[in-house]
Amino acid sequence: MRYFGTMKNNNGILEIGGVSIKELAKEYKTPLYIMDQQLIEDNMKKYIDNFKSDKFKTEIVYASKAFLSKAMCQLADKYGLSMDAVSAGELYTIKMANFPMNRVHMHGNNKSIEELEMCLDLGVGIVILDNILEIERLGELADEKNKKIKVMLRVNIGIDAHTHEYIRTSKHSSKFGESIFDKNIYGIVEKIINYKNLEFLGFHCHIGSQIFDTKAFHEGIETMLKFTKSVSEKLKINIQEMNLGGGFGVYYTEEDTEIDVEKFMHSMVEHIEKTLEKENMNLERVSIEPGRSIVGNAGGTLYSVGGTKETYGGVKYVFIDGGMTDNIRPALYQAKYEAVLANKLNEKPEEIVTIAGKCCESGDLIGKDMKLAKACVGDYVFVSTTGAYGYSMSSNYNKALRPAVVFVKDGKTALSIKRETYEDLVSKDIFLNL
Ligand SMILES: *Cc1c(COP(=O)(O)O)cnc(C)c1O
Repeated sequence: MRYFGTMKNNNGILEIGGVSIKELAKEYKTPLYIMDQQLIEDNMKKYIDNFKSDKFKTEIVYASKAFLSKAMCQLADKYGLSMDAVSAGELYTIKMANFPMNRVHMHGNNKSIEELEMCLDLGVGIVILDNILEIERLGELADEKNKKIKVMLRVNIGIDAHTHEYIRTSKHSSKFGESIFDKNIYGIVEKIINYKNLEFLGFHCHIGSQIFDTKAFHEGIETMLKFTKSVSEKLKINIQEMNLGGGFGVYYTEEDTEIDVEKFMHSMVEHIEKTLEKENMNLERVSIEPGRSIVGNAGGTLYSVGGTKETYGGVKYVFIDGGMTDNIRPALYQAKYEAVLANKLNEKPEEIVTIAGKCCESGDLIGKDMKLAKACVGDYVFVSTTGAYGYSMSSNYNKALRPAVVFVKDGKTALSIKRETYEDLVSKDIFLNL
């Protein structure tokens, strides 16, 4: 398993943020999400420091769906990042974290009236409009409330970023945005401009997730700028902004290439500058929306081994006290992870095992054919790179309690989200009146 951030082997015991996983397990129990706060902060700073230009302002928008808690909002605010939300629930959480709402961008392909009203009432910075119906809804609501709001239009630029089928979003048939190839696209933009309370800033695209190749982004930049130019010429309007979305890839296993965020950002900025010059254009601001690449490697999940089983069919199982309820990604997208026996780092990983959870699903696996040291009851399994889309996608299937999330830094721990309790499980459950 690759070590990230402050991870260390301290006499065979894994240590993160200067805290031993044995202490963490003792204090917070397992399963437990452990967030390396220093690495999150370093990642945020890397984006802020490297996605920068003399030609235009830049904005780093953290895609909160990757992992959202009050602590995350505090860190994003500390480093001057903005926040993406895609639902009323995310908006509410961000608001409750006292994050400045004028730095919040609201997404979603099917925003409800309630959500659009919330954007106006909470003073959300930018609404990224998805479609014609939504333009009309927000335009009318803004008129009713007599409130101005900044908007962008999500467009589908038809670029197929090389990634897993299920998390690819920019095909021509994607449910997100309006296609730039649509004959009606100028009319759609005109519709926005005609609402006096919608202030149109420009276009947004998001070409996929787990992208490692700068080429996809370079192509995206050219397509977006040419399109922006054609709209501003045709409609005789000044378009100030462009948002290129997120999707920067992270290392999960040896099958993934590593992205160097500094180089990747420099190459993007350079390509934007070059293309602007070539097209004889100016923009005031360009934004990007990293999610996974800020928290992915910074989070890991700690489990206890409850037992092992050698099947008649030859597969060796290591049973852990969590599984698809805290990490659905292997079952959902055949996502792969690396793992170690976190209390036996100095023992050779000689066993080939399947790490399985405790849910009533055969697909409840963290991984097949994983190399581990010989596991015994009471050992700790640590799975790396679960910081993004782990907690966010967790569930109560089989009435599992959602684990706690703890931040570690400089030898100290801070509980960010409490473990659920049995009372939580039945707190919304109501008897029939028989
Ligand atoms: C999910 C999402 C992101 C973040 O994607 P990552 O792969 O986590 O970087 C950014 N923008 C939009 C619109 C998204 O839907």
